[in-house]
Amino acid sequence: MSYNGTELVNEIRACVESIGAEIINIRRDFHQYPELSWVEVKTAKKLASIFNELSIDVETDICKTAVVANLAGNKSGKTLAIRADMDALPIHDAKDVPYASRIPGVLHACGHDCHMAMAIGVAKVLKKLNIELPGDIRFIFQPCEEAIPSGAHELMKAGVMDGVDGILAFHVDPEVEVGKIGLRNGIMTAHCTEFQLTIHGKSGHAARPHQAIDTVYLCSQILAALYSIVGSRKNPFMPAVLTIGHVDAGFKANVIPDNAYIAGTIRTLDDNSLEEITSQLEETVHALTRAAGGHYQIEFLTPVPSVYNHPDMIGLIEDVAGKVLSSEQIVKVEKVSMGGEDFSWYLEKAPGALIRLGSRKPDAEVTYLHTSRFDIDEKALLLGVNLMTLLVLKYFLGDKLDL
Ligand SMILES: [Zn+2]
Ligand SMILES: [Zn+2]
Repeated sequence: MSYNGTELVNEIRACVESIGAEIINIRRDFHQYPELSWVEVKTAKKLASIFNELSIDVETDICKTAVVANLAGNKSGKTLAIRADMDALPIHDAKDVPYASRIPGVLHACGHDCHMAMAIGVAKVLKKLNIELPGDIRFIFQPCEEAIPSGAHELMKAGVMDGVDGILAFHVDPEVEVGKIGLRNGIMTAHCTEFQLTIHGKSGHAARPHQAIDTVYLCSQILAALYSIVGSRKNPFMPAVLTIGHVDAGFKANVIPDNAYIAGTIRTLDDNSLEEITSQLEETVHALTRAAGGHYQIEFLTPVPSVYNHPDMIGLIEDVAGKVLSSEQIVKVEKVSMGGEDFSWYLEKAPGALIRLGSRKPDAEVTYLHTSRFDIDEKALLLGVNLMTLLVLKYFLGDKLDL
């Protein structure tokens, strides 16, 4: 059976509009009750109950709080996954809106509430449309995108991507105006790792440093040396960032402490640079600690690979988006982000793409991701549901859907 593209586009638009308020309310509910990485318990319960109500098969016994729902097609065929992350961040909500976070110190400041609401919206619209599809749609609600161990990595190890032929996801982008999407072929985000370093010295009286191994002084030397690695040793044509975000040493002005702690992140766009910086970092720590007579322990967490958007998926998105959006609404993302995104793990198993979804209110100031005033223009949610539904249909129907 073939479908008339224009009729279907109008039908989807009407259907999304009819449930628009419901999608926004679902997002606001997640927004008011955010949960941190790996403890998305209430979020998972809400998701499971929504999919149960929709009579869509749902699994909840995977990787603690993950929820995987499977909308089976009428015939067997390919499986397309849609991923939405679930976790919030330890940030106080400074917005003055009725749907502000009710959990002190926890905020959906990366838009994962929006990603979940849109995935639910797509499931609802597909159920309403009830179009015969040759294949299954797997909705992957993933815990812990914001911390390590990465939820995507754990889910992949648990087999969530087995049998999946393609995967799509949105990430809201507050730097792009609502109504627009951002696409990039190939590498989209950085290759990242984190390190945790403990320096061991010898405690002593602040008046008698000769009897101690001064971990605070050693820590300051290591910090200065680490910050110089990217600036003084790295090929300037290969982007890299080494940032230290956590330093902890001592407890009293007149005591030299036994230990000091440094944690940070390394981001590059290629594997070689990451390996180079990692080994230079360890050489530096080794040399300075040894010179001071101390010792150290260092741990590098499993790196998160770069998101690689597959040209075939980008082609499909450009094709579909080109029919329902104007050329000004489809923005080519020129620069790779030095941010990390664990969606990359799924892409090691199946081709896919991460779509940036513009969410800035027109003429309003940008409220950046991971900040206490982060918010979106909720019209973005409706565009997201609209576009993702069409992408799903085109993915399965191909030439039978003439857009
Ligand atoms: Zn984030
Ligand atoms: Zn995010």
